[in-house]
Amino acid sequence: MIEFENVRMVYPNGTEALSDVSLKIDEGEFVFIVGASGAGKSTLLHLLLREEKATDGTIRVGDYDLSTIRNRKIPYYRRKLGVVFQDFKLFDHKTVYENVSFAMRAIGAPSSLIRVRVPAILKSVDLSAKYKSFPTELSGGEQQRVSFARAIANNPDIIIADEPTANIDPEMTFEMMNLLLKFNKLGKTVIVITHERGLVNYLKKRVITLDKGRIVDDTKGGLANESL
Ligand code: ADP
Repeated sequence: MIEFENVRMVYPNGTEALSDVSLKIDEGEFVFIVGASGAGKSTLLHLLLREEKATDGTIRVGDYDLSTIRNRKIPYYRRKLGVVFQDFKLFDHKTVYENVSFAMRAIGAPSSLIRVRVPAILKSVDLSAKYKSFPTELSGGEQQRVSFARAIANNPDIIIADEPTANIDPEMTFEMMNLLLKFNKLGKTVIVITHERGLVNYLKKRVITLDKGRIVDDTKGGLANESL
């Protein structure tokens, strides 16, 4: 369960990016977070990843309270979350296999587990044949799948896709959504940050709309109005 209670975020320059945001996302939900540029979507993501600390209010994720979590516990907390970034953030000098195994090594996973899990994950995203390739040798869709594979490498409870469709074509968008839906079917929570109304309406999932730092709509089953 993810719970924001009266969360306010004011940056040091005085910009209030989120005001009185309260929301609950249950385990296993699939949620879109939408809103125009500047609405506060990235801020919400930074708070969730605990890259920033909320100015006021409480954020709880499972057993963790992000207002009181100790710094040394933050890396453990982040293991619950897998993030697919807009620009993939792959290491160009590492192979597909290394890009995924690096994420596991970084949290101290044993080599025996890495040797079994990385091939299995690459298979699940249909990249077994490309494990020795470097990102620059891959299509955009393949890079996206590596990015997804890396996000799920440590078996997170929650996956967050940050503007996953910003740099990709409709076919890749469809593929990305299928990966996220597949992951969701395993009972995992999926949060997609986007401004693509077509996509949101097509999937008919819960949509939380932010506007000027406030939640202005929270609807199940796609967007009801023309708010984007
Ligand atoms: P979105 O992701 O929806 O485009 P953001 O969360 O990036 O929105 O931004 C929300 C508001 O906070 C905007 O007014 C933006 O200019 C401001 N903002 C974002 N990051 C910072 C920062 N590091 N310092 C000051 N203001 C920021």
